[in-house]
Amino acid sequence: MSEVIQTPLLERYQRLAEISRDLASTLELDGLLKRIVQAAADLSQAEAASILLYDEDKQQLYFESATNLEEPLMRGLIVPVEGSIAGWVVTHRQPIIIADTQKDPRHFGNIAKATKVTTTSMLGVPLVAKDKVIGTLEAINKQVGQFTEDDQNVLMALAAQAAVAIENARLFQQSDLIAELVHELRTPLASLNTAAHLLLRSDIPEEHRIRVIQIIHNETDRLTEMTSAFLDLARLESGRTQFQVQVFDLYPLLEECANMMRGKAVENSLRLELEVERDLPRLKADRDKIKQVILNLLSNGIKYNRPGGEIAIRASFELDRFIIVVSDTGLGIHASDLEHLFEKFYRVQSTEQVASGTGLGLAICKRIVEAHGGKIRAASELGTGTTFTISLPAK
Ligand code: ADP
Repeated sequence: MSEVIQTPLLERYQRLAEISRDLASTLELDGLLKRIVQAAADLSQAEAASILLYDEDKQQLYFESATNLEEPLMRGLIVPVEGSIAGWVVTHRQPIIIADTQKDPRHFGNIAKATKVTTTSMLGVPLVAKDKVIGTLEAINKQVGQFTEDDQNVLMALAAQAAVAIENARLFQQSDLIAELVHELRTPLASLNTAAHLLLRSDIPEEHRIRVIQIIHNETDRLTEMTSAFLDLARLESGRTQFQVQVFDLYPLLEECANMMRGKAVENSLRLELEVERDLPRLKADRDKIKQVILNLLSNGIKYNRPGGEIAIRASFELDRFIIVVSDTGLGIHASDLEHLFEKFYRVQSTEQVASGTGLGLAICKRIVEAHGGKIRAASELGTGTTFTISLPAK
């Protein structure tokens, strides 16, 4: 029966050739992975397909993309190398067809529990680039009949192209990010260098010397902050961040954030207001990551404000989304800067003297919110203030 609806093999190889050309021209990793899993499901006529990438140090596989899973849910899913079919494929460097997954002792049932997708049959092939296994490409649940050797051969051919494309995209991503970091490190390093030279001179007055030492102190603080924020961002960009999703109440979280930042606000003669409905539904998200976002926005609201100003946090639930608003009556942002605000290392030139920063905070916030399936946007008027609005889906 299955033969009747099988796409002829030649046609499948023609499609594969088209897909390969498409893959070779994509350097954006997330988009690339999505195309690969979609192609894998189509070519093998499976209900779904997924990619798991292998971390050799940790001996774990990470779900990176799937045709049937939402990104936030998938991101946290880890599969051990021992005791999983994907792990078997990686360690044996061999394809595998499993007609009845439920009967196979290697089947890792935890994923089914987390995703509520029941796997019945499976075809797994290794992703090998430059002679290294970088992960497993899996097709799940053959639509009609069983996975065949033809399916396996087509998927192996796809995997060979896909692995090279993934490696290229990863290299490109890293070189891009590192080039930017190196560029950003130049300024603080130059000022540390100047400071060291000044201190070497015996003729500088004591008062001047203390100022120079203060500069060294600030610049090293900023470098420390920048390197740890950079690692945070690199992890988010490469999909290595693990999200610990839990269900929690928003009000106590926002109150906690407000309490943490109030001292700093008062120090700067600012008021910090919390106007949040208490009976909001519970949110399902990574609490620490959402906290990181809110703290970052509050910290900016304080840094780029004016004495006597105000920062407010509001939250509500509308239809199926949580809306969290952090607004300030601060310096405001010009429209031409506003459009670049969430780019990494972007800082508004006129505020560089107002407060020190890395220009990475908002880029990190955006990544975290988007990994939850949400959106963050900024509205501002120069001289009046800025409002950041986060919307998070209830599910
Ligand atoms: P950092 O504050 O470390 O420089 P961010 O990514 O958090 O980095 O912010 C980027 C830039 O956006 C800041 O340098 C600042 O110029 C501007 N900005 C952010 N938040 C505000 C705000 N609430 N009011 C005015 N400007 C802001």
